[in-house]
Amino acid sequence: MNKNSALLGAAGDTLLTQALEGTPVASFVINKDHIVVHWNHACEMVTGTPAERIVGTNKSWKPFYPTERPTMADLVLDELTDEIPRYYRGKFHPSPVVEGAWEADDFFPHFPNGGKWLSFTAQLLKKEDGEVVGAIETLRDITDQKRSELQSRESLSLLNQIIDGCPVPMFVINEDHVITHWNKACESIIDKSSKDLVGTKDQWKPFYDHKRPVLADLLLNSETGKLAEYYKGIWNKSPLVEGGWEATDHFPNLQTGPKWLYFTAAPIRNATGHMIGAVETLQDVTAQKHYEQKLEHQAKHDALTQLPNRALFADRLNQAIAHAERDKTLLAVMFIDLDDFKTINDTLGHHAGDDLLVELSERIKNCIRVGDTVCRIGGDEFVVLLVSPESDGHVADVTQRIIDDIAEPINLGHENIHARCSIGVALYPEDGLTAPKLLMHADSAMYTAKAKGKGGFCFFTDEINQETHTRLQIEQGLYSALEQGDFELYYQPLFDLSSGKITGAEALLRWHHPEQGIILPGEFISIAEQIGLIVPIGDWVLKTALTEAQSWMAITNKPLRISVNVSARQFQNAEILKSFRETMHAYKKANLHIELEVTESIVMDDPERASKLLQKLKDQGAHLAMDDFGTGHSSLAYLRRFPFDMVKIDRSFVHDLGTNREAEAIVRAMLELGTALGMRMVAEGVETARQKEFLEMEGCHEVQGFLLSYPLEAEAFRTLLKENT
Ligand code: C2E
Ligand code: MG
Ligand code: MG
Repeated sequence: MNKNSALLGAAGDTLLTQALEGTPVASFVINKDHIVVHWNHACEMVTGTPAERIVGTNKSWKPFYPTERPTMADLVLDELTDEIPRYYRGKFHPSPVVEGAWEADDFFPHFPNGGKWLSFTAQLLKKEDGEVVGAIETLRDITDQKRSELQSRESLSLLNQIIDGCPVPMFVINEDHVITHWNKACESIIDKSSKDLVGTKDQWKPFYDHKRPVLADLLLNSETGKLAEYYKGIWNKSPLVEGGWEATDHFPNLQTGPKWLYFTAAPIRNATGHMIGAVETLQDVTAQKHYEQKLEHQAKHDALTQLPNRALFADRLNQAIAHAERDKTLLAVMFIDLDDFKTINDTLGHHAGDDLLVELSERIKNCIRVGDTVCRIGGDEFVVLLVSPESDGHVADVTQRIIDDIAEPINLGHENIHARCSIGVALYPEDGLTAPKLLMHADSAMYTAKAKGKGGFCFFTDEINQETHTRLQIEQGLYSALEQGDFELYYQPLFDLSSGKITGAEALLRWHHPEQGIILPGEFISIAEQIGLIVPIGDWVLKTALTEAQSWMAITNKPLRISVNVSARQFQNAEILKSFRETMHAYKKANLHIELEVTESIVMDDPERASKLLQKLKDQGAHLAMDDFGTGHSSLAYLRRFPFDMVKIDRSFVHDLGTNREAEAIVRAMLELGTALGMRMVAEGVETARQKEFLEMEGCHEVQGFLLSYPLEAEAFRTLLKENT
């Protein structure tokens, strides 16, 4: 007999009984008195309670719960569905299959095999006429499903915990480049909250000031070809992860301050190997980088003075040689050796010696330009590299300045020390084409300097030694010449060709050197220009010429023109304007015209400016002459733009008159055009009667030259003027 025979009793129900018994869905049935009338085999299996023990009782709850309470079937039977939430709080939901029915999930720990998850639902059983006869509850074993759900939820939470708790800063982007993870470590290194970033595509924002892909983005797009473009020279394949890349870069704009970051990116793939995202890790390597930089600095610098050491110097010198070779520029290598440093060290102690070296290294540094290098290569030895100095003369100037600066007293504790040094100089390319050669020759020049007496310098090449020596002598001499009144003006008269009368004189500077006698301007004017001394000298010339010319006015009673030469340097800072205004103010000018002679280079360098300045001078009453015309490749037509009164044809053209057809043609054209343009034409350097005749014939207005008179001392000129008048 069927163990469930108590079910409903009716013969027609046998079929239903069999159906229930045979279904793999666990189910039980209670009658309207809550007596369990059916408990199928599947229900026995699921609950572990045999039908015999339960059928016929009203305790359908018993296999499920430790204490009495209604099952879902009981609640449905009593139409107490409102109570469902009370008994199944948070575990029930409407049945997806049967309308109006509820389903609940719950775990039953005492069921066989470590408990079971069941999903159950109950339904009223009614006769055809609607009379309620009982309720059926079906139980679905969802343990496996629940377990795997739980498992995946657990592993996801584990993954989140691992990512979030991992001390390595990292973030993850999905297939669409949307940030899915931005861990705690990442928050603290970058100072951007995961809240602000997760769900966005703003992974570039914390790192860069403009939108661009980060390493993970490039990887995800399989754009490793673009790595070189974005991470030039700083990326490589990860040695640890297949398909991963790494790079190190400096990030100056992080919210947490500038940092060096080492970052890696690796692909994330699904089970089929399809890339579904990428993970990027970051590591702050700032301290390490700084340490590396410090080590590198230490490896290349002298610990005491922090100057480059020999190795770095060699590096720079080699580079400089390569550049100089390419650009055809000069280089100078100086070997500096302190004189008697050992004595200082011995008498004042090593500390004082160290202080001295530090102070001197600063002084040397202050004498050189930004691109130049000074290095300490030994105890009291320094080497200096001057990159593209303008000339040997410039090198000599710097060398002398270093010697002078080092010689300034240094206060060491209680003592005032006077240090001295000897310097040897080698020049590229003359003295050597390689770094070792240049250093060797600078070193040997230094020994020559020492041998000549300490506190001086020497070039490796003798010829340059000679040149720079005289140059320096001239430089020094010029200062004292101005102070001690060793300058004098000579005057060379200019003659009117038609009348033979003196129209004026050009003031020409002479230097009475105490040892060398008279020195002509060709030897010192350009040096005076370079050292800026031409400005006070120019002042002196103007004042002296005016003073001396005052007394000649009484002789002629006719207008007289005194010409002075103006150099480019005076023109540069408009010094001449100030000087001219002041001087003119101080003297009476009746019948005395001051003419300023300027050369073509002055007007060619900056025509606009020159034109304005010349006009201002003219407004002040100056006459203007273009000196040495023809040597600067400008044309007379061009000169029309400037307010010149007079053009002085250079003596190189005059020299060839009477012997060279071409020169004659040129001079003829000059005279014709100049006259047509209303300028007074003068020929310089007239030495022969033939030249004078030619000029006379071609309509030149005035001449100046040895044929008529040499430059004369003021007194002699005065005499000549008297005779000529
Ligand atoms: P410059 O202005 O062309 O002066 C004319 C030069 O030609 C003078 O040389 C003069 O002695 C020379 N000379 C005159 N007649 C003849 C001749 O028949 N044959 C030859 N061979 N030479 C002749 P100096 O006095 O030696 O002056 C040379 C240059 O120095 C001047 O050329 C001028 O540019 C510059 N200079 C002279 N004095 C001054 C000055 O006070 N200031 C400035 N900035 N430059 C001056
Ligand atoms: Mg002149
Ligand atoms: Mg001249």
